[in-house]
Amino acid sequence: PPDVEQLGRATWTFLHATAAYYPDKPTPTQRANMLMLLRSLPILYPCTWCAQDFGRDIEQNPPDVSSRVALSRWLCERHNHVNKKLGKEMFDCAKVDERWKDGPAD
Ligand code: FAD
Repeated sequence: PPDVEQLGRATWTFLHATAAYYPDKPTPTQRANMLMLLRSLPILYPCTWCAQDFGRDIEQNPPDVSSRVALSRWLCERHNHVNKKLGKEMFDCAKVDERWKDGPAD
C-alpha cells in the first residue's frame, strides 16, 4: 500500500497549488472540472479511511469553486480538519497564498 504520509504531502501540494492558481472568475467548465476533481477523491484516493472521512467531510462542507480565494480558503479549512483529527497544528488560512502562491514577503 502507498505511504500515507508521503501520499498526503504530495496530494496536499497538488491540491493547494491548483487552488492557488485557479481563476478569480472560473468558467462553468473550470468549475465543473474542479468539482469533479474534488468529488473523485472520496472514490479514488488510495488511502481508504482517508477517502471515507474526506467524503463525509465534504458532504457536510461542500466545495466552494466560485473563485480562487473561496476555493483556497475552503481547501485550507478541509486540510485543517484533517490536521485536527491527526493532532497536528492548525494552519493560519490567511497565509495560504504566502505558502502556496506568492512565497514569503522577503
Ligand atoms: P501535511 O499535512 O501533508 O501538509 C503539507 C504542508 O502543507 C505543510 O507542511 C504546511 O506547509 C501546509 N499546510 C498544513 N496545513 C495546511 C492548511 N490547512 N492549508 C494550507 N496548507 C497547509 N492521514 C492520516 O493518517 N489519516 C487520514 O485520515 C488522512 N486523511 C487525508 C485526507 C486527504 C484528502 C489528504 C490529502 C491527506 C490525508 N492524510 C491523512 C494525510 C495527512 O493529511 C498528511 O498529509 C500526512 O500526515 C503528512 O503530514 P505533514 O505533517 O507532512 O504535512
